[in-house]
Amino acid sequence: MKILFKIIGGIVAVVIIIGFYRANTLYVDTQYYPENETQKVAVNIDKVTDTFSKAIQIATISKDYPAPVTPEPFLAFHQHLIDSFPAVHSFASREVINNYSLVYKFAGTDDSLKPILYMGHMDVVPVDEDTLEKWSYAPFSGTVVDGIIWGRGAIDDKSTVMALMEAMEITLLQGEVPKRTLYFAFGHDEEIGGSQGAKKVAEYFQQQGINFEFVLDEGGLITEDMISIVDQPLAIIGIAEKGFMNIRLIAERPGGHSSMPPENTGPGILAQAIVKLEQNKFPATAKYTNITFDAVGSHSDLTTRFVMANQWITEPLIISQMLKKQRTAAGIRTTTAVTMLKGSSKSNILPTKASAVVNLRILPGETTDTVFEYVKSIINDDRISYEVFMANNPSKVSSTESLGYKLISQTIREFANDALVAPYLVMGGTDSKHFYPLTDSVYRFMMIRVNPKTMSLIHGIDEHISIDNYVMSIQFFHELLRKSAFDNEAPK
Ligand SMILES: [Zn+2]
Repeated sequence: MKILFKIIGGIVAVVIIIGFYRANTLYVDTQYYPENETQKVAVNIDKVTDTFSKAIQIATISKDYPAPVTPEPFLAFHQHLIDSFPAVHSFASREVINNYSLVYKFAGTDDSLKPILYMGHMDVVPVDEDTLEKWSYAPFSGTVVDGIIWGRGAIDDKSTVMALMEAMEITLLQGEVPKRTLYFAFGHDEEIGGSQGAKKVAEYFQQQGINFEFVLDEGGLITEDMISIVDQPLAIIGIAEKGFMNIRLIAERPGGHSSMPPENTGPGILAQAIVKLEQNKFPATAKYTNITFDAVGSHSDLTTRFVMANQWITEPLIISQMLKKQRTAAGIRTTTAVTMLKGSSKSNILPTKASAVVNLRILPGETTDTVFEYVKSIINDDRISYEVFMANNPSKVSSTESLGYKLISQTIREFANDALVAPYLVMGGTDSKHFYPLTDSVYRFMMIRVNPKTMSLIHGIDEHISIDNYVMSIQFFHELLRKSAFDNEAPK
């Protein structure tokens, strides 16, 4: 993006000279820098590292949807939590939801305070057989070397589950009792949509009529050298997430021998449809990039500020530059990606049923219905039929004025006072999407520093976390739990 703003710099200079300048390049500085760093709770580093390593060694893999769960690893993971966190298990009431997901309730003494839910997921994505030898250490070994903990789930998302448990264990061992009721919920199938785990957990809470002050799940991180509108590290808190939908395009034809083909085969008809989709992408908007920029814009250089503040004239340029990179393009439009193709089973057989799966990630403001209608109108071919599966609407957008956002952002600043904090739109999906019926305030953040390299390891080869990062995550949660529930004057 930085290059964009340099390029646009010249145009901007001209615009200023010809008098288009509007006096709105100044943003309110929303950053808060505490004078003293928060006292960090003491952590037994060897013990928490060992407990975390063991958690990675349990291969709680979610195979592709809708494969059945392999029970043993999840039950072993449950037992590992029981063995490792005795104070949590003696204080909390614990529910197992749909055999494998977990809910812990830490009852507070003040019923007038609305409960808060902290979430994570126990499952991890599989490791492809053919990538096994590329791993520096076996993916389920939990190897600890030179201050690094290696393995699948080291970041996504066992770090959240284990850091939350460690933070609560420390708090309870200190003899603290919560004023506000807290819940932890750990799903078992987040990586395949959460329909059997988090969704059932959300229904369980709904049956009890529970309404949360806020919900915090995985999602945002502290990014370094990733978002180039500012030079500082940027802690991004997810306040919304895109929707998800698969559409299977199907072309049914008479079939027969390929030596006497028709004018268009099933795959040929599908190919035409796919080209139409790639040539007629969804419209783009800078609306959701702006929520991040508005929070940190005052820390960017003057040119960037001018460009972003004068979108009445610069928006087309911003959009055309953002569309040039996959990562930024995904943030400004509903995306379509054709992922699976199927024809016949033999080279000389015409397929009677050919299919292509289009995976869509839907921007807030659209719905699965509006997106489906758009796809059909672009393809506009009655030889094709459609099947929708795994569809979720985009989430609502949570407020940045709520108690939850304030507590989370303030605590981030206390633990990372070099970082700016900003809300953002999450591109992928998280379990927290199932919780909007239970609160308006859903946030996504994990206290881990990532750069482009470590970010690419999530779901990839050589996923790992530094012990420093993991300990910081525990201390962050310890402080957030204290602020949100254990303080003498827990905020309303
Ligand atoms: Zn995850």
